[in-house]
Formats: sequence, structure tokens, C-alpha cells
Amino acid sequence: MRRVSVFGATGSIGVNTLDLIARRPGAFQVVALSGGRNVKLLAEQARQFNAELAVTAHEECLPALRDALAGTGTEVAAGTQALVEAALRPADWVMSAIVGAAGLAPGFAALSQGTTLALANKESLVTAGPLLLAEAKKHGARILPVDSEHSAVFQALVGEDMAAVERVIITASGGAFRDWPLEKLKDATVAQASTHPNWAMGQRITIDSASMFNKAMELIETKEFFGLPPEKIETIVHPESLIHALVGFKDGALMAHLGAPDMRHAIGYALNWPEREDLPVERLDLAKIAALTFRAPDEVRFPALRLARETMDMGGTAGAAFNAAKEAALDAFIGEEIGFLAMTTLVDQVLSEMTARHDLGKPLSDLDMVYETDATARALARQMIPSLRT
Ligand code: NAD
Ligand code: MG
Repeated sequence: MRRVSVFGATGSIGVNTLDLIARRPGAFQVVALSGGRNVKLLAEQARQFNAELAVTAHEECLPALRDALAGTGTEVAAGTQALVEAALRPADWVMSAIVGAAGLAPGFAALSQGTTLALANKESLVTAGPLLLAEAKKHGARILPVDSEHSAVFQALVGEDMAAVERVIITASGGAFRDWPLEKLKDATVAQASTHPNWAMGQRITIDSASMFNKAMELIETKEFFGLPPEKIETIVHPESLIHALVGFKDGALMAHLGAPDMRHAIGYALNWPEREDLPVERLDLAKIAALTFRAPDEVRFPALRLARETMDMGGTAGAAFNAAKEAALDAFIGEEIGFLAMTTLVDQVLSEMTARHDLGKPLSDLDMVYETDATARALARQMIPSLRT
């Protein structure tokens, strides 16, 4: 039996991961599961999978978790340090599916033990890509991408030589506001931004899809994970979300990865790697689909893509600043402090201010540098929010 842990078990990726684990009885032993305030679901999962340990990110949720798991053999713990300790437990495979920069530390801890890390938490690569890859290398650990586009690129690259790669194209659905004119975008509400035409995901990534911040993050993720220069990475709007990414080679060939928009494909690929196993995902009926369409992304309506390019060009600490400013902007939008378009304005302003202070682009030497940059960017964003109120 393979020993597996799932961080962010109660979220969209976590629930899908456990769904796949449940479908192969006897194949996996669950070590640790983590969640946030959703103690009821976390306890149910811990009971169902007979987990060794259940961890809530919040200290104040510990008594409720302890009560819910009384009489079971499952240990309980709480807090950010407990998450790291859980990730240090011996395991063969760890799913990193906490949302936000909070996912970085547990993933790092898992890599330090040589554990295979299935990485859904894109913030890890955006904020600390070079450190994460170095940690994996140092301990002989493998990182398997779970973001659907990156899983698609990873699969298209099997057996290929990176030197022959001319470009990578990641597709974007265009999100909830793909066809909205700029004038209308400024009044977009949280509820409108929280629906996705093709994918069922957590609220934060769904809103990031509507603003294209998700694709912006994924451009940076592609650069960091595959070690590609920014000019070799493109994005294209593909409203059907059936092609997840394409890899272009120097002989002109394009290898595309197609599949239903169901995260269980990318999760299952990482879970079963290097084998392929049956997965409960819809099979595509190409005759019924009939047509696949594409259009160039619109950087006027969605400036997040331009900000990602600037972030990639700066490198070093810029990714941590970009992500932290984006998280603060998203919090402010969800809290109805700022409007939809003000999210990109805010990130732009934070990056400009930090560039003016020569705070950005320094090579990362350790995680503390990531956390310091993150804190500076969040504090600046908080200061700037009042002037952006609509
Ligand atoms: P979600 O909001 O549904 O779930 C997030 C999980 O993280 C929950 O278990 C929650 O309890 C936990 N969590 C939240 N804040 C935390 C904190 N501060 N400390 C510890 N735990 C915390 O999110 P999701 O959609 O499952 O996404 C998870 C990650 O995977 C994100 O990084 C997202 O960008 C990435 N991702 C998601 C999808 C998708 O289809 N949902 C696709 C690609 C990548
Ligand atoms: Mg994605």
C-alpha cells in the first residue's frame, strides 16, 4: 500500500483526490489529511479513510475536531506548524492542495523528506519556484504538476528532449467574463465572478479565472516548472476547455493534450504516475464536439497577463510580490472593498512601488526572503486599497 497525505483535503482538489483514492480500495493508506474551518467534512474524511492524523489550519477549530474524532484512532492537531509536521511524516505521495501562499511550507516539508509532491498549489511555484525545485533535487524528490495545463504539458513531453521544445501554449477558457466589454467589467460582482463556464473549482481560483489572474499565475508556473524562457510560453483563449495545453517542437509539430474539463484527470495522472489507471472521467465524443475554437487573449480587458510577463522578466522575488498582491486584491474584491477591475490596478501599483524601491527581482536565497516579500506586498496593498475604493 502506498502511503499518501492530502493537504487541503476539504477543498475542491482535495475532495477529488480522495474520490480517486476511494475508488482503489487496498491501494493506498492515508497518513494525514488537512483542512481549514470545515471541521465536519475533515472529520468525516478522516473516519472514512481511517487517517493516522487530521490537521486543521486553525487553532480555534481544534476542540471541535477532537470531539468529532473522539474514539477513532485518528490523531488531531492544529496550526501552521502542525501542517508542516504532518508533511514531515513518512509518506510516498503528498497532494499539495491548500489554496494560497499557505500551501508553500507543507509542500517544502514533504520534499525535504524525499516524498513525491503532487502540486496543485500553483502559488508554490509562483512565489518560490527555484527554491522548490532545488529542494526537490537536493532530496531526490519528484514534483508532479496537477494544474491541468501543466499536467498536459508534462504528458506531452514524455520521451521528448527539452532542447527540441520551441514553445508551450497553455489554453484559457476565458472565465466568466470572456465576452464582457470593458465598461461592464468594472461593475462585475463577486457572485458573477464566482461562476465558471467549464470547470467546478474553489471560489478563489474561479474568480482568478474571471480576471485572468489564474492564467497569469500559470504562465509563471510554466516558466518555473519547465525552466522555459518567458518568450517561449504563450496562452490562447479556447472557450471549450478541451485542449489543456500544446507543446510545439522545433520541427513544427504541435502535441496537444485533450480531455474533459475534470480535474480528476490531472490528479489521477499524478496519483498513478508513472502508470496510467482507469479514471472516471468522461470520454470525449469528437463528432459531437464538432469544432474547437481559439482566439487571442485580450490584454486590454485582462491586464493580468501583462503583469505576469513583467513578473517573469524580473524573476527572483517578483513572483512572491505578484502573488501576495493578487491575494490581497482578491480578498478586497471578495470583501467588496474594491471593484473587479481594481484588482489588476492594485497589483500593478504594488509591483510598481516595489520596483521603485528596488525591492523586486533579487534572486531568492531562502524561504524567509519569500515570506518577507509576501508581507511587504500585502502591507502595501492594504495601504493602497482605500484609494481604489469605488
Ligand atoms: P478550495 O478553496 O476549494 O480548497 C482549499 C483548501 O485549502 C481547503 O481544504 C481549505 O480548508 C484549505 N485552506 C484554505 N486556506 C488555508 C490556510 N490558510 N491554511 C491551510 N489550509 C487552508 O481550493 P481548490 O480550488 O481546491 O484549490 C486548491 C489549490 O489548487 C489552489 O492553489 C488552486 O489554485 C489549485 N488548483 C485548483 C484547481 C481546481 O480545479 N480547483 C485547478 C488547478 C489548480
Ligand atoms: Mg489550470
